[in-house]
Amino acid sequence: KLFNELQELKGNIRVYCRVRPFLRGQGASNTVVEHIGEHGELVVLNPTKPGKDGLRKFRFNKVYSPTSTQAEVFSDIKPLVRSVLDGYNVCIFAYGQTGSGKTYTMVFARYHFPINMPFCCICYHHYFFVQSGPDGASEEEWGVNYRALNDLFKISQSRKNNIAYEVGVQMVEIYNEQVRDLLSGILSTTQQNGLAVPDASMYPVTSTSDVLELMNIGLDNRTVSSTALNERSSRSHSIVTVHVRGKDLKTGSALFGNLHLVDLAGSERVDRSEVIGDRLKEAQHINKSLSALGDVIFSLASKSSHVPYRNSKLTQLLQSSLGGRAKTLMFVQLNPDVISYTESMSTLKFAERVS
Ligand code: ADP
Ligand code: MG
Repeated sequence: KLFNELQELKGNIRVYCRVRPFLRGQGASNTVVEHIGEHGELVVLNPTKPGKDGLRKFRFNKVYSPTSTQAEVFSDIKPLVRSVLDGYNVCIFAYGQTGSGKTYTMVFARYHFPINMPFCCICYHHYFFVQSGPDGASEEEWGVNYRALNDLFKISQSRKNNIAYEVGVQMVEIYNEQVRDLLSGILSTTQQNGLAVPDASMYPVTSTSDVLELMNIGLDNRTVSSTALNERSSRSHSIVTVHVRGKDLKTGSALFGNLHLVDLAGSERVDRSEVIGDRLKEAQHINKSLSALGDVIFSLASKSSHVPYRNSKLTQLLQSSLGGRAKTLMFVQLNPDVISYTESMSTLKFAERVS
């Protein structure tokens, strides 16, 4: 009974922790992760306190080990993604320090279309399957964004005799508390009413390749210069919004659902004594918006009567999709390296508070 009450209290908020593997060239011996349990347990060891005293236990809805695949992760969140087609609003966030795997988990397959290649069905598909993916990543590595859209198109297609779906996509970046529309002025936009993100352009899409193309444009717009991309992306939040409108062909009634896929700015604490000027301003904006997000999710999880949406651009923008009937999933990303122990602990404490 207690368990049921707890579940009810949590409502529609889930926290999944994902520990990324050591990257090539990094030793695997120096991990802070002592144990990952089947029921969401995670035990972390403080490297300066080996032994029982250094152990700290956390509990989330799920914990993924470094060997978990993109496919495994997506199969767990499939029902959540699909509920968008039934008229739910869903937000999926990736939280964690830079380098912890946020973009890996979320990222959209980057679609490199060869400009000089003749456009025919066969080579199109050939190219699509062989060479698309984030910077040439293989199909198994495709992240939540790509898989979610693929799945939404697949399911909407299978329901087409009963429900006619229209899908629109938006892509914005929040940098220093300013919202930038990454798809502005590319094509003719659509669906001006009922925008999921007000004032950002929305494009109609009918297939995954449409979306891939749009996302590439958005990603290119985000790129200040290729070397600056990583730097910049770790200090801005990027939000892909999929807006779904479904019309019941028998009754004529309509439903609306939104899926927000949010790759958050890096959560690392910046040492104030070391940064000045623009860098300090960026750091302050990031701290402010991430703690505002934490406060909103915490108040929702604890059923507080006041939810402080107004404290950041991020929470304002996502207000209609956080709380109420909306469903929220936070991927908490961890770099297992002992060097990241302090950052990992602060990430885990943030996650513990909202879970
Ligand atoms: P972030 O977006 O949090 O800064 P990234 O997603 O860029 O971090 O990940 C940092 C590096 O780790 C990248 O090279 C990425 O490919 C790799 N990586 C992250 N998670 C995994 C994973 N689960 N499996 C394999 N490689 C991963
Ligand atoms: Mg990233």
